[in-house]
Amino acid sequence: MSAYDHDVDKEVYDITIVGGGPAGLFATFYSGIRNMKTKLIEALPHLGGQLSTLYPDKYVYDVPGYTKILARDLVKKLEEQAMQVNPTIRLNEKLIALRHLDEKLIELETTRGLHYSKTVLLTTGMGVISMKKLGIPSVERFEGRGVYYLITNKWMFRDKKVIIVGGGDSAVDWALELKDIASEVVLVHRRAGFRAHEAKVVELFSSRIRKLIPYVVRDAHGSEKLESVTLTNVETGEEVTLEADALIPQIGYEIDNSLYKSWGLDVDEHGIKVNGRMETNIPGIFAVGDAASPIGSPKLNLIAIGFAQAIIAVNCAKHYIDPNASIFPGHIVKLT
Ligand SMILES: Cc1cc2nc3c(=O)[nH]c(=O)nc-3n(C[C@H](O)[C@H](O)[C@H](O)COP(=O)(O)OP(=O)(O)OC[C@H]3O[C@@H](n4cnc5c(N)ncnc54)[C@H](O)[C@@H]3O)c2cc1C
Repeated sequence: MSAYDHDVDKEVYDITIVGGGPAGLFATFYSGIRNMKTKLIEALPHLGGQLSTLYPDKYVYDVPGYTKILARDLVKKLEEQAMQVNPTIRLNEKLIALRHLDEKLIELETTRGLHYSKTVLLTTGMGVISMKKLGIPSVERFEGRGVYYLITNKWMFRDKKVIIVGGGDSAVDWALELKDIASEVVLVHRRAGFRAHEAKVVELFSSRIRKLIPYVVRDAHGSEKLESVTLTNVETGEEVTLEADALIPQIGYEIDNSLYKSWGLDVDEHGIKVNGRMETNIPGIFAVGDAASPIGSPKLNLIAIGFAQAIIAVNCAKHYIDPNASIFPGHIVKLT
């Protein structure tokens, strides 16, 4: 008797999409309009991927058709769009193994059961995200009491003194987002170069956000909660202590590719290797969005890129299942 007898879905789906971020949600809709029996599996209790987990209150400006849209509202729209095609959605289920039972039948093992599908589309993004920590004991002591690696509600910083650490997109985006909410925002970065989007860096430097460069965090102080932070100039050794209600380190993420390798997928430092059809090295298994590393094209972790890749993958999956089906779907005239 299998450990999953209580939760085996014996129905075979045309496509099972793993990961309910923007790429997975749009792929769900698209599979539906290609008349594919579609299931979406998401490890978390909610859909939306990074948009819901990491930046629900941040505006997104580079999704076609919206001059700006809050990440949480974009997720709502994507969910509405996906639900039109009546997919099967399974939340709180993490994919842990993939096996080919025969040429066109794949078994997916999750933390809650077994699923069967002719094709699988991995839209697992960065996988289970873990934020890089500063690793300073006096700072980690205040995690959740003034030190925040993840922001789920930007309004908690209203009228607060906030220090943000980092030079990438997350740090710069949050500095700009909080500048009109917090009473003061200080951005601390250890070197002159920024990895963030050029336009955002220009905006940062023309804003009233205080920049402390090249500084690093050395120490944090307080009793019950964070009260101040000591920073060190990495060139001169000079120290400065600033009053702070919140310290937000945004110094990157740790990504674990080991699960993909254990499924037999070829990976490189950017993710699961895919060709121009978004096919992985395993027949019938496709990958798109942040999870994918397209061979021969630049790796751009952007929502719009995942949307376009999802269209390619779904159309190729349709053709993989039924070689008589055209890859090009034609244009949608009306949704039934
Ligand atoms: C702070 C920040 C700001 C950003 N701003 C922008 C922006 O303004 N514009 C833009 O275009 N991009 C932006 N991005 C990038 C954008 O969020 C990503 O490119 C996008 O979320 C990738 O979508 P995805 O669907 O591929 O993956 P994700 O959004 O990462 O979703 C993957 C989903 O898969 C699930 N999952 C993972 N492993 C499993 C498993 N084994 N089983 C089941 N489910 C699993 C995860 O829980 C998650 O829900 C930003 C990113 C960050 C961090």
